[in-house]
Amino acid sequence: MRVLKKFPQSNTIKGQLHRALVWITFIIGLCIFIPTLYIEYRQTIQHQNEEMTHYLDAQTYFFESWLSERSSDIHTIANLDFVKDYNFEKSQVFFQDYKEKTNFTDLIFVNKEGIVQFDTVTEYSKNGVNMDVNDRKYFQVAKKTKQPYITDILISKVTKRPIIAFASPILNAQQQFNGVVFGAVNLDTIDQLLQESRVGFLGHAYIIDQEGTMLSEFNNKQQRSSGNYLVDEHILNAALKNTASGLELYKDANDKWVLAKSKPINEGTWFIISEIGLVAAYKPLIIRFSLITFCLVVGSFFTIKMMLHLSKRIEEPIQQLLTGVRKVEQGFYDYQINDQQLVPFAQEFQELCSSFNEMSAKVRKDTILLKELSITCQLTKLYNRRYLIEQGELVFQKCLEEQNHCSCIAIDIDFFKKVNDTYGHLIGDEVLKHVATIITNCVRSIHIITRYGGEEFVILSPNTTLESGVKIAERVRQQVENNPYHANDFEINVTVSIGIAGYGHSKNISTFYELLDSADQALYIAKESGRNQLRVYDRTGIVDARQML
Ligand code: GH3
Ligand code: MG
Ligand code: MG
Repeated sequence: MRVLKKFPQSNTIKGQLHRALVWITFIIGLCIFIPTLYIEYRQTIQHQNEEMTHYLDAQTYFFESWLSERSSDIHTIANLDFVKDYNFEKSQVFFQDYKEKTNFTDLIFVNKEGIVQFDTVTEYSKNGVNMDVNDRKYFQVAKKTKQPYITDILISKVTKRPIIAFASPILNAQQQFNGVVFGAVNLDTIDQLLQESRVGFLGHAYIIDQEGTMLSEFNNKQQRSSGNYLVDEHILNAALKNTASGLELYKDANDKWVLAKSKPINEGTWFIISEIGLVAAYKPLIIRFSLITFCLVVGSFFTIKMMLHLSKRIEEPIQQLLTGVRKVEQGFYDYQINDQQLVPFAQEFQELCSSFNEMSAKVRKDTILLKELSITCQLTKLYNRRYLIEQGELVFQKCLEEQNHCSCIAIDIDFFKKVNDTYGHLIGDEVLKHVATIITNCVRSIHIITRYGGEEFVILSPNTTLESGVKIAERVRQQVENNPYHANDFEINVTVSIGIAGYGHSKNISTFYELLDSADQALYIAKESGRNQLRVYDRTGIVDARQML
């Protein structure tokens, strides 16, 4: 029940206002929230793209420079005179020194037949020297093109570890191929270089070749244990697509969703790939999203509070008006709305309320007037027959309940037709008024005096014995007889015949109708008996009233 009380019924103004309120807040919230979120999303993606492009550019530049430096290192060595002259002793010392100062893990001298003459990895020198490298691509390319060459990943025949090799041909004085110098670089070194080049970048960067073989991170335990250095196909495809303008979304090797971007290096043979986890990428968006949500919740809270206050200011005066209308509907025409209470509300409500008050006052006045008119005889100003019928039964029943007496006196003017015929209806009306005044003066206010019909009057006397009723009736008869109507130059003698009946005096009477009928029967006998006299409806029948006076 409590819950029901809290939520107003849907068809009330309160309910409709509250529902509209929730919708308005929700729609406004959405209208702000969705575009803002969309703009923020676009900006975040754009920012992320720019940032990754920037880092990739820096890494590419760093890496390309390193590759070209190492390539030119080998090229320079291959062009040294003592190398060209096959001065192994001097070359070996130089190679050893050079290796110490650079990232090369091994420097190898190969003769034109493809047989290793010496290398710098002493502990393996036994294995390395005299090794045939004719099958190696770097030897074949260097021999064929007489140009430096950088290999993809290959397993060193000397160290048995994955390496990349920088090869450069040794050319004799006639510029003929005379052997190859190549330097091996361990993949650890590439990792190290990547680490150095990624300053400030929060994501993950690695290098692959066109087959998808990882050139960095080969130390990754998982890869090492499985012996698999290949990235998933979808990652390779994304790298090959070379998304210069946008970002790729995919699951990385650890099965986590990442945003990725790649850039080709080493003349398009390798790719640097940068990946950033979705949470890290969208962190600024998440922060902004939380901030916007917070602002919207706070905003909505205050908006709803304000709107509720506003709805209360509409609802309250309407409620007061409704109460007023219901009161009038129930017949309380004098109900007035306290306009002082409406001062804090909108002016329109105050106007509405004062109009209502004026209307209810007018209705009340008109209703009273109508009521009066409906129960009053306009000529004599006495109550009319309708009133007697309405009130008679009530008054009679009350006397009945209280075991009180109740008398009814029926009066009829004698030969009134003659008055009309002789003096005209206007004078007749004046005579009627004259008789009504005499009757009114003869009885007290608790008696109900009515003009029952044309020239007939009925007095209903509650708490009045038949004897008292007879006395009142006689008084009326005498007063009418003794007070003729005076016109300007003539006077009209008027008499009345009267019939009286009383409850408590006759067993037959138990309703007002019977009481009235009994009085009327007595009146009829009074007429029959010669007029200007009283007759009483008694236990014994209709009797002359003189014996009761
Ligand atoms: P009775 O002694 O038998 O009562 O004779 P009556 O002439 O008084 O009785 P009757 O019933 O024959 O006539 C009543 C007359 O009262 C008839 C009617 O014209 C007249 N009358 C009824 N109402 C009015 C009225 O409002 N004004 C006037 N001037 N005359 C009225
Ligand atoms: Mg009559
Ligand atoms: Mg009459």
